[in-house]
Amino acid sequence: MANDISADVAIIGAGPVGMFAVFELGMLKLSSVLIDALGEVGGQCAALYPEKPIYDIPAHPAIEAGELIARLDRQIAPFHAPRLLGRRVSGLVGEAGAFTLATDQGDAVHARTVLIAAGAGAFGPNRPPIEGLATYEATGSVQYYVRRREDFRGKRVVIAGGGDSAVDWALELKDVARVSVVHRRPKFRAAPESAAQLDAAAARGEVEMVIPYQLQALRGEGGVLSAVEVATLQGETRLLPADLLLPFFGLSMDLGPIAAWGLESVQHHVKVDPATCVTSWPGVFAIGDVATYPGKLKLILQGFSEAAVAAHAIFAVVHPGEALHFEYSTTKGVPAG
Ligand SMILES: Cc1cc2nc3c(=O)[nH]c(=O)nc-3n(C[C@H](O)[C@H](O)[C@H](O)COP(=O)(O)OP(=O)(O)OC[C@H]3O[C@@H](n4cnc5c(N)ncnc54)[C@H](O)[C@@H]3O)c2cc1C
Repeated sequence: MANDISADVAIIGAGPVGMFAVFELGMLKLSSVLIDALGEVGGQCAALYPEKPIYDIPAHPAIEAGELIARLDRQIAPFHAPRLLGRRVSGLVGEAGAFTLATDQGDAVHARTVLIAAGAGAFGPNRPPIEGLATYEATGSVQYYVRRREDFRGKRVVIAGGGDSAVDWALELKDVARVSVVHRRPKFRAAPESAAQLDAAAARGEVEMVIPYQLQALRGEGGVLSAVEVATLQGETRLLPADLLLPFFGLSMDLGPIAAWGLESVQHHVKVDPATCVTSWPGVFAIGDVATYPGKLKLILQGFSEAAVAAHAIFAVVHPGEALHFEYSTTKGVPAG
């Protein structure tokens, strides 16, 4: 059913940063609506690595990404921001004070300002160029994300790639599955500590290292995988018995429809003024992974800070000429919910 909704701020993207923006805006009594293409909130944390611990969230020595999202959800609950999930924002027209957003489901969202928290945009995995891949994806034999570690218990898993995801998931899954890691060269582009842990695990025989090989073909019946064929650059091949293939070749960044809105951008990221997070379109702000400026770090921590900065700048657009008296949350408290 198509919705027609009005709010002070339309937030595009319900990842951790978009979610926290609901809080920061709410504390300034600004209403917001959260829109996301995915069917659930949480962005990359929920969709890509819910069971992975994050270690650089202040005051949480370690917190699983899914738990972080659950806590953010509780933190923003008192503000009752409507959510339009499973809906991709496609169009944006208007000017500061009067914008209208359109979604691919026919919704119309009227907002005084727009806050883009679209992360990696409509992110998707980089797929290996293998014949018949889609058939194996359809049966779940080829997956790009680990949603639940338990789903891999007792399985023969081939992990391909040489970055952090390949190394981290090899370490995470080795205790529940038989893991082989395929990489085209001995050096991994991962955190040195994790790469060293993987080497140690391989030396103990807990993980099989298949180096220097690349994916070549998939073997199986009706899209159900039985083996992964790998090859060296010289053409030597090996057949690795497998139930599942996890190719980790990074995420492709695709701003999707947002790229067509004429916002000034730098390498697929929206350029903002770090003092306000405003984009080149007055009234349109951007925060989190999608936003860039000199010194930008793509960290949840930094996105949270940008949410606070943007909320204050947005207040001035929604209430022009009205002074905003800075107050700590300890002084203000939060609404009862
Ligand atoms: C494996 C892995 C480990 C990581 N570990 C850490 C870590 O330890 N510490 C850390 O700080 N960061 C880590 N990160 C990075 C962190 O997840 C990101 O910095 C964070 O998710 C960015 O949040 P965001 O809200 O800006 O964007 P995202 O989480 O990317 O969310 C953006 C949302 O916008 C939606 N969207 C995009 N375009 C549209 C549209 N047109 N219409 C509607 N919705 C749209 C998307 O569907 C998505 O849900 C890690 C990332 C990965 C993949």
